Amino acid sequence: SKWGFNLAGGYAAGAAYEPDRLALIDAGGHRTFAEVDARSTALAAAMHSIGLRKGDAIGLLARNHSGMVETMVAAGKLGVDVALLNAGLSGRRIEEIVQRHRLSAVFVDGALETLIRYLHNEVPRYTTDDCPPSPDRTTIDDLIAQAPDDFPVPAHPGRLIVLTSGTSGSPKGARRPHAKGFGTIAALLSRIPLRVEEVMLIPAPLFHTWGLAGLQLSTALRATVVLTDGFDAMDCLRAVAQHRITTVIVVPTMVERLLEVPDEVRASLDLSSLRFVVSCGAPLAGATVLRFLDSYGDVLYNVYGSTEVSWASVATPDDLRASPTTAGRPPLGTRVAVLGPDLRPVPVGSTGHIFVANHMLFDGYVNSAPPEEADGMLDTGDLGYLDAAGRLFVVGRDDEMIISGGENVFPRPVEEALAHLPQISEVAVVGVPDREFGQRLAAFVVKREGAGLDSDMVRTYIRNRLSRFSVPRDVTFLPALPRGETGKILKRVLVPGSVLSE
Ligand code: ATP
Repeated sequence: SKWGFNLAGGYAAGAAYEPDRLALIDAGGHRTFAEVDARSTALAAAMHSIGLRKGDAIGLLARNHSGMVETMVAAGKLGVDVALLNAGLSGRRIEEIVQRHRLSAVFVDGALETLIRYLHNEVPRYTTDDCPPSPDRTTIDDLIAQAPDDFPVPAHPGRLIVLTSGTSGSPKGARRPHAKGFGTIAALLSRIPLRVEEVMLIPAPLFHTWGLAGLQLSTALRATVVLTDGFDAMDCLRAVAQHRITTVIVVPTMVERLLEVPDEVRASLDLSSLRFVVSCGAPLAGATVLRFLDSYGDVLYNVYGSTEVSWASVATPDDLRASPTTAGRPPLGTRVAVLGPDLRPVPVGSTGHIFVANHMLFDGYVNSAPPEEADGMLDTGDLGYLDAAGRLFVVGRDDEMIISGGENVFPRPVEEALAHLPQISEVAVVGVPDREFGQRLAAFVVKREGAGLDSDMVRTYIRNRLSRFSVPRDVTFLPALPRGETGKILKRVLVPGSVLSE
């Protein structure tokens, strides 16, 4: 791109300046910047020879590994759009997406092939990882081996189609340019003091905004990226010690898992290289923030944003110490405003709709109407408020607001309060229809192992702390909360008493 910066440009720059520096490490081995650049150029040439052209779109259904990154970079070099398919979706859903987006080919991990087994044969598939060879598989290594070597790489990068988490329904396909320029990185560095050549561990899925943003950031910083398939807290900490990781990009559930590692185990590992644990994409409970800062030191950052607006605000360890539930402040070049129904700013401390403008807004959905805009800013669909110090607090999504007996209640503060109860390991609060009050609150609780807790204790705890409208009338105990692939609680499937009650 014009700025010489996008995923492909990032690897090309790395190859030019520091060819032998390690760019990607995964379970299968490692690749330098020069290797990623050369392999993805060859793959772009091979994609061209199998008929892919600028403006076409391919699907990529893969877990985090080098081949997945090389496929994205190669398509980017050719001007081919990439729809990042969520490995947690059902096969039927994925096939629907392939058809809806008219994808010309699907690049898929050997292990995920069964998810698209019913896809018509007209959609060719290629394997992104080095799974066992078979006559009906063409892997990207096969493609690279056959690539013509005189292929001119076009100058216009393609786009990535990132699916939203589907918290409010089906995931929406949001188009993102590979990067919108240098402002993106400068913005984030104004809040997270990363340096060039960090060593980054990215367990957050690359097929979703948060992992992907980490990868884009890594190429700009010429960082070495360690990719893991899935997340295990102990493996994560071992990787930190082994690779001298400086930066970990996670989602909040992973932060919770890291807290479950016993102190003595943590103390036995050398984690001194770790400077940034960046949590993105969903609310981080205040209680978790404080425990994390105490256990791991001042390394935690809370990033708020969405697939549509990318990062909108960042809370630093200082912000979090002062105010554990804050989503922090906007990075350089980002405007965050809290607007009332008349689309004018509300006073400090009052709750309104969060609107965001920055260099990174998406290019629109593939198949849905765009979100509302005001004064060049995009409606995030979230409600929140700013404090006198300019820190943002996200109280919830506007479609999560519960009106009970004429009072507006948000699940978030109730969840936050309950998270302080030591007997509770996970909690979600939703609104359910109520004949008398319009809506009432229902809590879904996962107890810690062996903890004694009943629904009355839950209600009493809230009654002593919050308004009476915030007391959940239904309390359902579950063995686990339903979560989507990005780790988000799928509130729309929670129905009181449905699964298992006390
Ligand atoms: P869909 O758009 O399909 O309903 P989704 O909105 O969950 O799914 P994402 O783009 O992954 O899709 O998530 C963005 C939303 O996640 C934000 O609008 C906000 O509600 C929530 N969120 C993200 N980061 C934070 C954070 N740090 N604190 C609080 N909420 C957050």
